[in-house]
Amino acid sequence: MTDIYELIIIGAGPAGITASIYAARKKMNFIVITKDVGGQTVLSSGIENYTGYQFITGVELANKFREHIESFNILLKENETVTFVKKDADIISVETDKGKYYTKSVVVASGRVPRKLNVKGEEEFKNRGITYCATCDAPFFAGKDVAVIGGGNSALDAVLQLIKIANKVYLIDIAPKLKADPIMVEKAKNSNIVEIYNNTKVEEIYGDKFVEGIKISRDNKIKELSIEGIFIEIGSIAASDFINDVLKNKDKEIIVNCKCETNIPGIFAAGDVTNVASKQIIVACGEGAKAVLSAFEYLSKI
Ligand SMILES: Cc1cc2nc3c(=O)[nH]c(=O)nc-3n(C[C@H](O)[C@H](O)[C@H](O)COP(=O)(O)OP(=O)(O)OC[C@H]3O[C@@H](n4cnc5c(N)ncnc54)[C@H](O)[C@@H]3O)c2cc1C
Repeated sequence: MTDIYELIIIGAGPAGITASIYAARKKMNFIVITKDVGGQTVLSSGIENYTGYQFITGVELANKFREHIESFNILLKENETVTFVKKDADIISVETDKGKYYTKSVVVASGRVPRKLNVKGEEEFKNRGITYCATCDAPFFAGKDVAVIGGGNSALDAVLQLIKIANKVYLIDIAPKLKADPIMVEKAKNSNIVEIYNNTKVEEIYGDKFVEGIKISRDNKIKELSIEGIFIEIGSIAASDFINDVLKNKDKEIIVNCKCETNIPGIFAAGDVTNVASKQIIVACGEGAKAVLSAFEYLSKI
């Protein structure tokens, strides 16, 4: 007979990790299925707003999270991707790229993934010059000419990291004015290696085996820039494609109430994948805790 878990937690970012700790302390029969441990925290070069730490890098915090879950006997299915979740009668099936699991309740804590530009060459040159994480990949572009796409805080964060490393940084933003915090914009403008293109659209990324250049357009004029690296920093989107029956908003965020309940009894969601307002580590942790406490209450009543 196949195991039917009490709970499956999808994701091990701040929300999923905290959910796991609460589930372990409640001695629930559960597993965690996740692509990685840490989620988006590893993308942050420095965190100054997580209570208890005046400053910690994202990678250090993710390591702390891992140590914390390893202190419990948690069945962690890492490097596994959930592809489909469905509730039939009272049982929820969770399909992954490695198998199929059954459970009475689920906490979806799958967070967000970087938004794509959707231009020619983006898929072809992914990880061959194109990256979505400046903190992880900027050091690979030492002494090179690169472009950062976007105009918000993460784009400017990438530019400020690259100023110390690259030879030349083009900042390409589709909007007429950069949206990022003025202090970051000022630092970028003060650098003599940064060239800013506002009102500018990326048309194509090209190269041979690796990125060699980018075609951009402004006022219907096409221009080509020779570069070896492209940092796409245009925001992120909720990672919720594997679950269809729950209600979502137009941004694909799963709609939850203040107990992290979705419209389907037994399916809970927490953190950045939901419509909860502030996409922050501390908020995701709190939501992960709430989701498991709600799942625990739900299980005690069915
Ligand atoms: C560059 C950057 C800097 C940031 N800096 C800060 C900061 O300084 N302070 C702050 O508070 N917040 C910061 N944030 C925001 C913060 O990282 C997020 O709010 C937080 O990580 C959300 O946690 P989460 O657990 O909801 O989702 P995530 O961190 O996105 O974790 C989702 C988890 O789900 C897994 N997953 C996704 N899809 C699947 C699937 N199909 N199958 C299995 N597993 C899956 C992922 O592998 C991951 O483990 C920053 C974000 C970015 C991008």
